[in-house]
Amino acid sequence: MSRSRKPDWLKMRPPSGREFTDIKETLREHDLNTVCEEANCPNLGECWSGRNGSGDGGTATFMLMGHRCSRTCNFCDVETGGMEPLDPDEPANVADAIAEIGLDYVVLTSVDRDDLPDQGAEHFAETVREIKRRHPGILVEVLTPDFQGDPELVRKIIDAGPDVFAHNVETVERLQHPVRDRRAGYEQSLSVLEQVSQESDVYTKTSLMLGVGEYHHEIYQTLSDLREIDLDVVTLGQYLQPSRTHLDVERYVTPDEFDTWRAVAEDEMDFLYCASGPMVRSSYKAGELFVDAVLR
Ligand code: SF4
Ligand code: SF4
Repeated sequence: MSRSRKPDWLKMRPPSGREFTDIKETLREHDLNTVCEEANCPNLGECWSGRNGSGDGGTATFMLMGHRCSRTCNFCDVETGGMEPLDPDEPANVADAIAEIGLDYVVLTSVDRDDLPDQGAEHFAETVREIKRRHPGILVEVLTPDFQGDPELVRKIIDAGPDVFAHNVETVERLQHPVRDRRAGYEQSLSVLEQVSQESDVYTKTSLMLGVGEYHHEIYQTLSDLREIDLDVVTLGQYLQPSRTHLDVERYVTPDEFDTWRAVAEDEMDFLYCASGPMVRSSYKAGELFVDAVLR
């Protein structure tokens, strides 16, 4: 399907304004990457400002451990290979930036680091600990790699004390490959989430992209599988092709269909909440939705 036939509901205003430029400057001062910018995320204006009517601060997603990934997923625009050494100052830099920006909910994610002996688990965990040490009141969501399904590495992240543990299954079982790197897999991702759900009280979350060729019954089956392992939160959004060399968009899912899936997830399957819409991403307004669902 051609990218030029994007429906109207996917056209968004580019971010602007004082708040946006202030945050951008702070990030540059601390030499930090955010997914929000790297992925050119259309929700940036909304998320960073926390413009939701609740009066809460914003959400930003920090990308740890560089901007080159050891994997190649056919939907993702992050560069592969040429892995960089870890920056030992990154955990402290992220914590400083959070204080300066005044975020009250932060999402930490990373590239996959299959090249490192512990796949970066300790560095990831140290960033969570550093933030919690300096800002005990802040809520931290981690969006982690699968750590090749190694329970000890997953345990390291749980022990660091995040409030929400997210790991994305990305798509239904049948389409894991070609969508994800061959080292990723449906069962492996479910096992990571199941471990967190069984071994801790941390909220669990995952995200699915729609529009890569999945059938309705497969979406339903995936939601059932996720509920089966006691997952708390699911988000559903439209896959958008980052460039012509990436996986094609098979269809544009209508806003009405997204609403239907939200109702299935929340009303029929009893997920804690489901964010579902064309522009929804894993961390879309993560702070305000979590606060609304859990803390109010
Ligand atoms: Fe992108 Fe994550 Fe896949 Fe790496 S593992 S290519 S960051 S989706
Ligand atoms: Fe950033 Fe996630 Fe919001 Fe996009 S949806 S702006 S990546 S926090």
